[in-house]
Amino acid sequence: MMMMIIKLCLFAMTVLSIAPANAQTQGVGFGYGGKNGPYRWGYLNPNYTKCSVGKLQSPIDIQRRQTFLNSGLKPLHRDYYTTNATLVNHVCNVAMMFGEGAGDVVIDNKNYTLKQMHWHTPSEHHLHGVQYAAELHMVHQAKDGSFAVVASLFKIGSEEPFLSQMKDKLMKLKEERLKGNQTAQVEVGKINTRHIERKTRKYFRYVGSLTTPPCSENVSWTILGKVRSMSKEQIEVLRSPLDISYKRNARPCQPLNGRRVEMFHELVN
Ligand SMILES: [Zn+2]
Repeated sequence: MMMMIIKLCLFAMTVLSIAPANAQTQGVGFGYGGKNGPYRWGYLNPNYTKCSVGKLQSPIDIQRRQTFLNSGLKPLHRDYYTTNATLVNHVCNVAMMFGEGAGDVVIDNKNYTLKQMHWHTPSEHHLHGVQYAAELHMVHQAKDGSFAVVASLFKIGSEEPFLSQMKDKLMKLKEERLKGNQTAQVEVGKINTRHIERKTRKYFRYVGSLTTPPCSENVSWTILGKVRSMSKEQIEVLRSPLDISYKRNARPCQPLNGRRVEMFHELVN
């Protein structure tokens, strides 16, 4: 059973990675504690070495003294459209996979198409030393295979409207898990992601990596400056389909290694 978990969790990653999955990458799993934990990822598989030797790794703690206002950055331009979506238990997280035409984000004049989004609890990125209750990753991919992730941080508070719409589907994933179906998929149908693309007054931008093996680098990260809210119950619902070892699925912060974190601020840019 463990092998199956591992393969499928990996599948989630390889679907998105530039290099196709091969026999070597399958069958070696990662977790968030013990001997498969984040400090061991780089040694679990030859294809995961970036996780230990990479110098552009994610997540990071965004600290004020390492953040530079870049007046050349543009407002974040996102165009999302109503599209078919499927909620999937990826074992290491819960994800929503989008069909064709979900829309784009434009970064440095390059278009990246929205592929999926998933949640981490607690947050992976820290903002000024603070780790938040949850983090949403909206994963986009360009035609050349490169990734851009737009991340939102959440503190515990009022309900998050998008997740409220999704509650029944998340409960279904949990029921399926209880029945023994570890990698259940629940059709969500047409989903309107437009209200996710709220105006962003402030964001942070840096070059990092995927936060799960193979920890591939040169991922363009955008962390939204406004911390949003999610209820405690919603965090529990997001965790409920996951096995105990994946309920806390945040990789620890990685060294900045001299990288610049740039900031966009509406009032200045
Ligand atoms: Zn993620």
